[in-house]
Amino acid sequence: AEWVQAHGGTGDRLVVLAGPTAVGKGTVAAHIRARHPEVKLSVSATTRAPRPGEVDGEHYFFVDDAEFDRMIEAGELLEWATVHNAYRYGTPRGPVEAAIAAGDSVLLEIDIQGARSVRRAMPEATLVFLLPPTWDELVRRLVGRGTESPSEQQRRLETAKVELAAVDEFDHQVVNRDVGEAARKVVELMRPRKGRRPAALRQ
Ligand code: 5GP
Repeated sequence: AEWVQAHGGTGDRLVVLAGPTAVGKGTVAAHIRARHPEVKLSVSATTRAPRPGEVDGEHYFFVDDAEFDRMIEAGELLEWATVHNAYRYGTPRGPVEAAIAAGDSVLLEIDIQGARSVRRAMPEATLVFLLPPTWDELVRRLVGRGTESPSEQQRRLETAKVELAAVDEFDHQVVNRDVGEAARKVVELMRPRKGRRPAALRQ
């Protein structure tokens, strides 16, 4: 909080995108990464192994448990959480602070526990909750991607029910009907100080 005050309002420059499992947070973030180079995406550290195609330092910093422990001890993480009772994920503090200090907008694609931690650490952050169009659609997306076993799917859906109840804690809700539309709405909530055209030059 002191850091935020010292650097002026971060409000619309630090945006957290969270939402229940399978709602499409990762897809929306990837869309923003590809089309909005002006938005800096925070690269999380994780203890899980890379999936095919994932690049260390680009999608995540893949670290082992000892290194993750060290990052926590050293205060290098803005927030961290164990997600789906499996691996640990955390947001490196340095790059986020540097980007905001430089006037860039930063997007954090993290889980709901992480969003709550960011709210505590940086009360001025903008919290966006990504919603599925309907509950049935969320179930369809989770089952459809086929990356979890049926029992794991069941467990995640139970978690999703609880997580959906957190929607009121967030500043904005965006329904993920269409990925491009959802991405645009998220980007509209971000107001970079840098690169904004002076009012006199705007049409
Ligand atoms: P995946 O392993 O599928 O890439 O991500 C699993 C979950 O971890 C997603 O819900 C994602 O939002 C969350 N996640 C990714 N990075 C972070 C982080 O730095 N902090 C927290 N709290 N959650 C994260």
